[in-house]
Amino acid sequence: MSDPAPTCLFCAIVAGAVPAEVVAETPDTLAFRDINPFAPVHVLVIPKRHIASAAEVGPADGDLLAALFTTAKAVADAEGIGGPDRGYRLVANVGPDASNTVFHLHLHVLGGRPMDWPPG
Ligand code: 5GP
Ligand code: ZN
Repeated sequence: MSDPAPTCLFCAIVAGAVPAEVVAETPDTLAFRDINPFAPVHVLVIPKRHIASAAEVGPADGDLLAALFTTAKAVADAEGIGGPDRGYRLVANVGPDASNTVFHLHLHVLGGRPMDWPPG
């Protein structure tokens, strides 16, 4: 595993230096509730290894991406929004126009209410 980025908030959460409400953990991923939720279910799924954003993902990261999506599905199922009559949205923000504020790759798992498309 690569060294944590020294100023990265999510690396600090992985290290246990910053508290978070963890809802799922695997050897390579961590899932915790967003501190400022804008849906009844709002969980962030991250790789434990520091990757700055989805724009930094490369061909060698395939297994990690599979693990990320598998954890996201497990979270959705555990939160009761994974079934065929519910549903959820996975979001990965990149850059300022997407309001990206934490530069450690994460999937937002959003659900528990209907969501418009396209998003605002
Ligand atoms: P971004 O806009 O970068 O895709 O999303 C970053 C997310 O991290 C935001 O939704 C924000 O509410 C969340 N966040 C920021 N600081 C913390 C924190 O200290 N703990 C948790 N659990 N979430 C955070
Ligand atoms: Zn990080």
